[in-house]
Amino acid sequence: MNNTDFIIKCYHADHIRKKQPNQFYILTNDFNETVDIGNAKQPIPTIVYDSIIDLFQHSEINHEHILYFQNCSNKFIEKLNQFTTNFNNLYQLRTFINVLKKIKVNDYFFFSPADKYPLDLNLPHIVARELCKLNNADKKYFETYKTITDNYIHLWTYDNESSTKTIKTGNPVKQNRTCRFCGKREPETTFSHASHAISEGFGNKRLFCNEECDICNNKFGKTIEPSLLNYFNIERSFIGVKGKKNKTPNINLNYYRPHDCYRSMAKFFISLLPIDNFIIFYYTIKWINGSEAPHPLPIIWRTLEPPQYQKPFPKVSLFIQPDMQLNKNIPHSLIDFSFGPYRYLCTIPFIPHDNKDYSNADDFDDFWQVFDIYNAVKWDALDWSSEQKIKDQLNIKINFHFQKNKS
Ligand SMILES: [Zn+2]
Repeated sequence: MNNTDFIIKCYHADHIRKKQPNQFYILTNDFNETVDIGNAKQPIPTIVYDSIIDLFQHSEINHEHILYFQNCSNKFIEKLNQFTTNFNNLYQLRTFINVLKKIKVNDYFFFSPADKYPLDLNLPHIVARELCKLNNADKKYFETYKTITDNYIHLWTYDNESSTKTIKTGNPVKQNRTCRFCGKREPETTFSHASHAISEGFGNKRLFCNEECDICNNKFGKTIEPSLLNYFNIERSFIGVKGKKNKTPNINLNYYRPHDCYRSMAKFFISLLPIDNFIIFYYTIKWINGSEAPHPLPIIWRTLEPPQYQKPFPKVSLFIQPDMQLNKNIPHSLIDFSFGPYRYLCTIPFIPHDNKDYSNADDFDDFWQVFDIYNAVKWDALDWSSEQKIKDQLNIKINFHFQKNKS
């Protein structure tokens, strides 16, 4: 198993938003499942629920509390077999039982009823790290990324190929939505159209932001997003992405404004955030909207990906520092965006917690120590602060090579 996938799967905005009773989270080193048993219309009988709770080990101090880390001991397997015999006529339990039976003997696993799941954004990391430790599993990922995970919450990685689900950030109930970009709600604005969290022109058909209103969606689609799409036009046409109406772009070199490219990238970050407190991004959002006067913008770092990592679709990771332990010498928030042959690291600008503007390469000295693992490759410093219209010259040597990920 790939440990990066583990993070992706176990961190999901929905996990902390929908705290359903009769829903359980089961995480192992091999899989991550959210299992429903019954629903509001057809709840399972209390006696069955109690028997479920009895299957697991409880805290000695507080018997109400189920331990998060359980062991798939022989005793547990015995209890589970008995439970299966007792309730095998209940179809609502089938998935639940099957998932528990997938756990390897003597392995530790994380178990929590959804309504007892602690609201801690960093939890998936803690769980993953702890499970690796308990199961003597491959800890390399966590050790390699230790300096990053000590400083940042790795909010999530989204990789278009390995995901099959549609993911929507933000409030699912229209009437309760506030647009992340203009702050308006219904009836002042509308949320009739699905807003892509990453432009559809990159081939994104699965990642949406509920909290971008129709007016903002329309505005960004006409202003800043075309710049970023034009910037990536060569890559998009060679890859043959299916954008709007499944159209593939032609190899045209169109004008783009670097400043608007930067704003688009930051807009992706805001759209993808699985949180609902945007106060620290107040100035960032103002700037994305075009109402903040130009400042020096942080340097954007770009590297050429080795062929095996080049992807014909966008791959995105978000990093944000936890409020409890801010390190003011490194950027508060970042988006790591890969598409085609290149990977970009973009600092999210105008966050009051940052005490530098990161417009000089030297401002990143501490950053590279934290992102030590990224240091193995050479990164170019790009300046995307210009508001001038630019058109690239087609004198590049195209050297694309994609490998299908077989795992
Ligand atoms: Zn809006």
